[in-house]
Amino acid sequence: MRLSKMHLKTLREVPAEAEIPSHILMLRTGMIRKLASGVYGFMSLGWRTIRKIENIVREEMDAAGSQEIHMSAIQPAELWQESGRWDAYGPELWRIKDRHGREFCLGPTHEEIFTDIIRNDVSSYRQLPMNLYQIQTKYRDEARPRFGLMRSREFIMKDAYSFDRDDEGLDRSYREMYEAYEKIFTRCGLKFRPVEADNGAIGGSNSHEFTAISEVGESEIAYCEHCSMAATVERAECRDAEPQDDVEMLPMEEVHTPGTKTIEEVSEFLGIDQKSTIKALLFVTYDIEGKEAGYVAAFVRGDRELNMTKLVNALGIPEHAIEFADEEKMGEATGCVGGFTGPTKLHDCTIVVDSELPGLKNLCAGACKVDHHLINVNYGRDYEGDIVTDIKILAEGEPCPVCGAPVKHARGIEVGQVFKLGTKYSESMKAYYKDENMKDHPIVMGCYGIGVTRTMAAVIEQHHDENGIIWPMSVAPYHVIITVMKPDDEIQAGVAEKIYGELLAGGAEVLLDDRKERPGVKFKDADLLGIPIRITVGRGAAEGMIEYKMRRDADKTEMTVEEGIKQALETISEEK
Ligand code: ATP
Ligand code: MG
Repeated sequence: MRLSKMHLKTLREVPAEAEIPSHILMLRTGMIRKLASGVYGFMSLGWRTIRKIENIVREEMDAAGSQEIHMSAIQPAELWQESGRWDAYGPELWRIKDRHGREFCLGPTHEEIFTDIIRNDVSSYRQLPMNLYQIQTKYRDEARPRFGLMRSREFIMKDAYSFDRDDEGLDRSYREMYEAYEKIFTRCGLKFRPVEADNGAIGGSNSHEFTAISEVGESEIAYCEHCSMAATVERAECRDAEPQDDVEMLPMEEVHTPGTKTIEEVSEFLGIDQKSTIKALLFVTYDIEGKEAGYVAAFVRGDRELNMTKLVNALGIPEHAIEFADEEKMGEATGCVGGFTGPTKLHDCTIVVDSELPGLKNLCAGACKVDHHLINVNYGRDYEGDIVTDIKILAEGEPCPVCGAPVKHARGIEVGQVFKLGTKYSESMKAYYKDENMKDHPIVMGCYGIGVTRTMAAVIEQHHDENGIIWPMSVAPYHVIITVMKPDDEIQAGVAEKIYGELLAGGAEVLLDDRKERPGVKFKDADLLGIPIRITVGRGAAEGMIEYKMRRDADKTEMTVEEGIKQALETISEEK
């Protein structure tokens, strides 16, 4: 492609709305164009990289035995009603109506559609296992679309669905997909970590997220350097504190603690460790119609943080059906008092108690009375939970739930996730097969997603410097950029054409910067675009010499035209 003819608009200035490198660089290189909040189009360079990522995904999915199909983004509501997700999915689901008032959604994912295909087409055990995938546009009306392609409302996803006879088969399919994902993200040039994850709204029993390590990522992961434990912080189990079985229960007492609304304030006022206090978090829940359904008070040890994912799982409700309560309103209904809520006197709400609290003795908790706390509060004698389970966050430095070594935290971008769905969809949607004895069984399913557009953003997050993108060869929009210093100079133009022609003939993807711009502008653009190999044709052209530089390296090398072509083709075939 000749840059002089190319549809390309680079920006010198950083667009104000863009906060993270991938978003800034995609806008500056003109790879993407915003149409509305969280809705983007792709210009030529951006689309080329998307297609490269898609092809890597396609090759590895095909190699793993999955078959590509392509379904519509428009999905009839009836299928979602059958699975129960029409109501459960919440406001992220982009609902639409046709002219007859029939309801549809723009698919955020396709479990229902693929289950429907299989229940119609598969009846016998002989047809299983089966694995189908598509690379297709998804819609999620995200509460906070941000960071460009990282969290958008329209995005490209590869989604695959496996169908097996039994759990053993699912284990095999899951492992094959997991391994395909490792190959895909490695080929995309990502440093990533597969971590155990929560199943979330999709349901099922087991899941892993593939997390590209990055400071700007929205996933927080907990991992252990001494064993293989690695999980999203949402999912990570947390060891309970040792129960204090041999500590005497002391008589409960009310104490005056004026103005001490936080754990820090009350523990300082009473001169006690935060670990000897109980922290209260108050919520209101909503039903399917969005009406208030009830109140929830969650209690964790004062120094702990509440884990929202574990809480909603314990309550068996979707994440969008709960939010922090208006304490005054909740107080009228339940007796709680903002800043002074404890578990002993509450009524008409669901009390969720973290699993370690029953083992801890003589704790300090709010007295449900302004400016007062209770000391020597003990589980069983003074309060009880409707639900007692692990609802705390595994903080950095806490003991690893597997081996006990201090855990570390890191941030990452979730680029893919694999799930064991089991029979959730096949049972609700009646996808059965007949075994050898003509007996019916629900088909055992898995599902496997990769955010193609988010992967592009993740690659840029990991591969850039202050001057621009540094594409790995495998997903670079072009392999080589030929920068001609003086395109009007006949010798330079001739040498550049020769290199361009020979590289193209050798199968390379080449940009020829033949624009009548100053060399400084061209070098800046070449760095910004991040094309892996730059060949500069300048004064040396008269002697058959060029300058060869990798975008990722600082140094450049003078070599002959022939050497440059040879080296470029070799590097491309090694790295692409
Ligand atoms: P997140 O937790 O980031 O909202 P998710 O767990 O809801 O993502 P999945 O349902 O697992 O997402 O979708 C599969 C993949 O699709 C994700 O791993 C991610 O790479 C991508 N993805 C999901 N939501 C978005 C989005 N809003 N914008 C871009 N990519 C997305
Ligand atoms: Mg996910």
